[in-house]
This record gives sequence, structure tokens and C-alpha cells, in this order.
Amino acid sequence: MMTLKKNKEAVFEHVRQATKAAHRPEDSVHIIAVTKYVDAQVAKELCETGIEHIAENRVDKFLDKYQALKKENLTWHLIGTLQRRKVKDVINYVDYFHALDSVKLAAEIQKRAEHPIKCFLQVNISEEETKHGFKANEVEAALSEIAAFDKIELVGLMTMAPLAATKEEIADIFNQTQELNHHLHNLHLPHMPFTELSMGMSGDYDIAIQNGATFVRIGSAFFEE
Ligand SMILES: *Cc1c(COP(=O)(O)O)cnc(C)c1O
Repeated sequence: MMTLKKNKEAVFEHVRQATKAAHRPEDSVHIIAVTKYVDAQVAKELCETGIEHIAENRVDKFLDKYQALKKENLTWHLIGTLQRRKVKDVINYVDYFHALDSVKLAAEIQKRAEHPIKCFLQVNISEEETKHGFKANEVEAALSEIAAFDKIELVGLMTMAPLAATKEEIADIFNQTQELNHHLHNLHLPHMPFTELSMGMSGDYDIAIQNGATFVRIGSAFFEE
């Protein structure tokens, strides 16, 4: 408990410093606690230190945490790859879905969602074979298909830097993602505001904040000893 509180305060302070260093308003970066490493009880203890946003990357673990913590007044994020056959089990409990990576998945969400779902379109800027997401040059064609799906509100882009990337490479990927997000915002498409940007994890959130991230997804930094 003591470590959780200390870690929470350290993470929030680092984010505050990074936001200030980037000359951005203090409330422009939302911190999402990724609780995939811990059980619902530990997640609850972390939330009691003053967390508003919680995330899981797998449907089964999302549903476990949601069952245990749904009364806690949290905003719920699903951040990992979602298989189409699991959409119906989870999508109506999700406030933000960060891994929209195909038009077929968007069609399934359209079919199963009972209200509009805030989604991030996942992009694979570095074009790594192993990563999910649209390549930059595929995005606009995808948007013209997703345009028909009024249950999908595209709030912005989400990306992840390759594990082995240097700080310079990460900055370049995050900067390209920010520019693409601005471009899409300026298209002013219905239900596609592109005002948010989901990028940055424990190892690179300062670089993400420098490049306009509005949601950072932080896991291990909350739970280290
Ligand atoms: C686990 C995970 C995170 C958090 O990663 P940490 O390095 O533990 O901060 C962020 N985003 C996604 C998609 C994840 O799966």
C-alpha cells in the first residue's frame, strides 16, 4: 500500500513535470493506470490513491476488474487487441477502446454497441510486421469505410513504439503520429474528432507528452518495488 501510494505520487509528479516542460496546460494529459500485472484487490488499492482512469489489455481480465470495481466511479479503458468474437462480451462496459485496428472490427463494434463508443484508431507508424494497426497511408481509406458506423466515435490515434527503439526513434514515431492526428482532425469528419492522442507507457511517456499525448498508458511504474 505504501509503495503504491509512493509510486502513484512519483508517476503523477513526473507527468506534471513533463507536461510543464512541454509548455502544455497541466490538465491536458490524462493518466491511465494499466492494472494487468495485479489482481482486483491491488488494483482497488491503487485506485484509492486517487486514480480516475483504469485499463486492461485482455477481455477476461477487463471483465474481472470491471466486476470487482465497477462501483468505484472509474473511467474504463480497453487497450489491447480485441478479437471480433469477443466484442459482444465487453464493448458496452468500455468507455474508451484504444486498439481499433481493422474495418472488420469496427463493423462488429457497430453491430454490438448499444451507444457510441469512444475509440482510438491504432496506427503502426514504424510498420513493424509484428505490430497491429493501420499503416499511415491506409488510414484515410479506412476512415471512408468507418464513416458509415455511427457507434464508433474516433477520438484520436493510438500508437506504440517498437521495444528496441532508441529515444530518437521513439520521438520520431510519436511526432509523426501527432502530425497525422492533426491532419485527421482538420478533415472535420462527422463522429471523428481526432482531438485525443493515446501514446506513452512507463518507459517513454515523457517523450509522448512532449509530442502531444493526451492519454498516457502507465503500468509497471505503479507497481515496481
Ligand atoms: C501493458 C501495456 C501498457 C503499459 O505498459 P508499461 O510498460 O507496463 O507501462 C500500455 N499499453 C498497452 C497496450 C499495454 O499492453
